[in-house]
Amino acid sequence: MLTLENVTAGYGVMNVLDNVSFDIHARRTVAVVGESGSGKSTAARVITGLLVPSKGEVLFEGQALPQSYKARSRDQLRQTQMIYQMADTALNPKLRLRELIGRPVAMYLGLKGRALEERICNLLNLIELEPDTYIDRLPSELSGGQKQRIGIARALAAEPRVIICDEVTSALDQIVQEGILRLLDRLQ
Ligand code: ADP
Ligand code: MG
Repeated sequence: MLTLENVTAGYGVMNVLDNVSFDIHARRTVAVVGESGSGKSTAARVITGLLVPSKGEVLFEGQALPQSYKARSRDQLRQTQMIYQMADTALNPKLRLRELIGRPVAMYLGLKGRALEERICNLLNLIELEPDTYIDRLPSELSGGQKQRIGIARALAAEPRVIICDEVTSALDQIVQEGILRLLDRLQ
């Protein structure tokens, strides 16, 4: 599905990734393991087009993706979604869940009105937040684990082929971490 091919990338003159290659196959999970500062998030940035590598390519189903997200099509952007470590800072504090989840649904799938509302409720049910109770809440009215569930719903809203999880549980306490891992496992 997704291939990193001989990617060298870094910041300024410092190389963080040196000739890195790996494949991600459909319906499989690939774990990227390494100490803090070893370049895991940098690899995610190259895949999502936030960082342009100095060498190498990212291929989606065998076709090279434009290096920068700016040059990628809406459909190419839709296919690879990301869930972030800091659920808190990843959500616009002024938007209610209706909009936080509704915007990517409208943008990527073009749904409006009733169909949009149904899809938002459907995604809330999927992450086990009761739509009537939660749809009009702000991020500040949620627990840490619930915020991360919204991060998951936003990624799923785009109906992506690949989801990158960048330490999505490390900001949560242990019991909540387990709930998030179970949820991701169930959604796979
Ligand atoms: P990891 O996610 O594995 O903890 P990162 O990919 O975030 O590691 O960082 C890899 C290296 O790149 C670290 O040495 C870090 O200091 C450096 N780095 C990360 N982001 C930047 C940046 N925006 N500018 C300069 N150096 C950075
Ligand atoms: Mg990181």
